[in-house]
Amino acid sequence: MAWDFSTEPEFQRELDWMADFVRAEVWPLETVAQELGQEGLERAIAPLRDAVKERGLWAAHLPPELGGHGFGQVKLALMHEILGTSPYAPIVFGNNAPDSGNAEILALAGTPDQKAQWLEPLLAGELRSAFSMTEPETAGSDPTLLETRAVDDGDAWVIDGHKWFSSNGSVADFLIVMAVTDPEARPHQRASMFVVPADIPGVRIVRDVATMEQPAEHFGRIGGHAEIVYEGVRVPKDALLGARGAGFAIAQQRLGPGRIHHCMRWLGVSRRAFDMLCERAVARYAHGSLLAEKQTVQNWIADSAAQMQAARLMTLHAAWRIDAEGASAARQEIALIKFFGAGVLHDVVDRALQAHGALGYSTDLPLEAMYRYARAARIYDGPDEVHRESVARRILRGYAPPPGGVPSEHVPTRRAAARERFAALLEAVTSND
Ligand SMILES: Cc1cc2nc3c(=O)[nH]c(=O)nc-3n(C[C@H](O)[C@H](O)[C@H](O)COP(=O)(O)OP(=O)(O)OC[C@H]3O[C@@H](n4cnc5c(N)ncnc54)[C@H](O)[C@@H]3O)c2cc1C
Repeated sequence: MAWDFSTEPEFQRELDWMADFVRAEVWPLETVAQELGQEGLERAIAPLRDAVKERGLWAAHLPPELGGHGFGQVKLALMHEILGTSPYAPIVFGNNAPDSGNAEILALAGTPDQKAQWLEPLLAGELRSAFSMTEPETAGSDPTLLETRAVDDGDAWVIDGHKWFSSNGSVADFLIVMAVTDPEARPHQRASMFVVPADIPGVRIVRDVATMEQPAEHFGRIGGHAEIVYEGVRVPKDALLGARGAGFAIAQQRLGPGRIHHCMRWLGVSRRAFDMLCERAVARYAHGSLLAEKQTVQNWIADSAAQMQAARLMTLHAAWRIDAEGASAARQEIALIKFFGAGVLHDVVDRALQAHGALGYSTDLPLEAMYRYARAARIYDGPDEVHRESVARRILRGYAPPPGGVPSEHVPTRRAAARERFAALLEAVTSND
């Protein structure tokens, strides 16, 4: 029997250190981040990053040869649960999206030259990156429809296309662009990835799209989602990342573990919202009792605890499966947690917000920001519906229509068969009467 839900004591010590450090050193940054501005924030974060590096926890998702720990997904998941409690913690620990995922792509598919030029400075925090796949004109949920093209033109690839929601695109030094190189190939072998410097001719960063998360237009801000036009962008042949036509295969390997990290970060946020819900419940008095004594609020607390526990175990199980059998064996588990985890985050934050009434809706608490963050989780990395569809399709592959169209569990049919099988016994029972 190898079922074991415990964490090794040495790693638990690291987790405890992280939890204390994030709470004491990173949470306080949240309320002054705007005032500090980008430069001030960088200055405030620098000593924290040094402390993380000293502790040996910097960019822990990477293999040891790149300065990481080669932690498996279970350990990373436990770590991301803590880092998810603050939007600034992943930056302090060198594994913020999209740089961490892009670093993984470069580590996975990059040539030694590409690693030296892009990956090493990215890991050192000297460069920023973006992942540029989604287009406004085609359904991002079905990337086989991509229209951005990269054409082989002798010594160069020439890229033309229109993207948006390239997170951090307006502050990135380079973009990893997904473009169709082989339109006649099978759908999942048509696209390739390219490393495109952001400042070369033809790359036009149009704007940061204003969103529910950042309703005011601010160009060139970390966390912005850029609209980008690529017009006759010429990149050298060695800008191709991985094999020609391998864009989807690489994306799949990056997105699987990335979804685990997202789900665990969502649990970190959920936990913080849940603590606020419980604190409010024992403090707010209305209609003759504390909120904690009202059954609706008790239900919110119990349902939230159950949902978070389920999402946590499901996510850790998916992480364990990736470690044991690889990302593609865990596709079903990953799809399950992507939509389930996003729903749990949404529900828990929504209840905590509701329990705080007007205060919850105000910016005096972080709940309204969490709510906006939670809403996006149901869309990025594949909308809920796509993951549900993929789960259902996989499950249904194991089923076939019953013979003759009669449901397998049809009681009269089963009874007739059982009567035949137990005829002798039934006969004996009847003759005893
Ligand atoms: C905060 C945020 C950050 C992002 N960051 C990036 C990034 O860094 N790089 C990048 O390239 N992209 C990024 N994206 C884009 C994201 O990946 C896409 O929004 C997502 O893939 C959905 O594509 P779409 O917006 O074109 O929606 P569509 O594909 O048009 O889908 C719209 C809706 O149609 C429905 N739908 C789709 N398929 C099905 C189906 N099979 N069954 C039932 N209903 C269905 C769903 O309700 C879906 O929400 C980001 C998005 C957000 C919100």
